[in-house]
Amino acid sequence: MVALLGVDIGGTNVKTALVSVDGAVLSFASGSWSGRGPADAVETAALSVPGLVDEAGVSPAVCGCACAGLVDSARGVVHSSPNLPTWSDVRLADMLSERLGLNVKLENDANAAAFAEFEVGAAREAGNAVMLTLGTGVGGGIVLGGALYRGSHGSAGEIGHTTIDLDGAACVCGSRGCLEGMASAGAVVRHAVEMIGGGRESALSPAVSAGTLSSRDVGAAAARGDEVALESLAAVGRNLGVGLANISQILDPDVIVVGGGVAEAGDLLLAPAREEMRARLSACDFRAPLIVAAELGETAGVVGAALLARDGRL
Ligand SMILES: [Zn+2]
Repeated sequence: MVALLGVDIGGTNVKTALVSVDGAVLSFASGSWSGRGPADAVETAALSVPGLVDEAGVSPAVCGCACAGLVDSARGVVHSSPNLPTWSDVRLADMLSERLGLNVKLENDANAAAFAEFEVGAAREAGNAVMLTLGTGVGGGIVLGGALYRGSHGSAGEIGHTTIDLDGAACVCGSRGCLEGMASAGAVVRHAVEMIGGGRESALSPAVSAGTLSSRDVGAAAARGDEVALESLAAVGRNLGVGLANISQILDPDVIVVGGGVAEAGDLLLAPAREEMRARLSACDFRAPLIVAAELGETAGVVGAALLARDGRL
């Protein structure tokens, strides 16, 4: 059997997996790392490989690596990364290749996740698919006709930085009113804090007072029927729905997959998003895409990177 090594380098964790050529996870590891230089990330990944090989009973033939940030996949370089602010023009594919003794293909993490959901996840029946990952930021990936669409400069799919509100809040990208600011984990928390600050009662009040409220707390409270939590998710869902309608008008995909921590709220977020999208597509509702929750969770990045390495090198 041929196996592929998938690596996913984030700001706090390095995930690795051995993956079969048809996308099954044979073994998986996730460990924290220093979050500093790329050599530390490479070493953390490399140290996990013997355990993965033992568990799966097979050695990898090639490696795919997913990393957050602006990635030049053709050259294997991470230009910059919001999660890894000290990284600049890091030749990550070469570094991993030297340490592992394998050919390495590098990809942006949101692109890798989108490709994985298209190949073996929630969009596996689709011909064209888009994925949005709602977390601290909002990542995006586009798969058209079975191929990842990277654009002319390698930066396609930055759907989080499309404008939803003309005069909205300033964004880290330099623009204003971006989808990222209105559909990320921070947006969920902001809605709840504003409502509670305005005098609404909620089980979330102690966490707001302590300054510890997370979007996961809001999701859990919403599942228990907390009105403020439900309204926060619905408000963010409507923002998301505007973004989904924009994607539909430009790309007309079969499926848009929504993943990331915020999407763990499921239909409490996605139902208002679908409703808003359909209202904005009402004149062309016949081609509204399916809006579905991601299926692969924390393995999406490693699986997608591995499968992209399969397609590029085997
Ligand atoms: Zn932005």
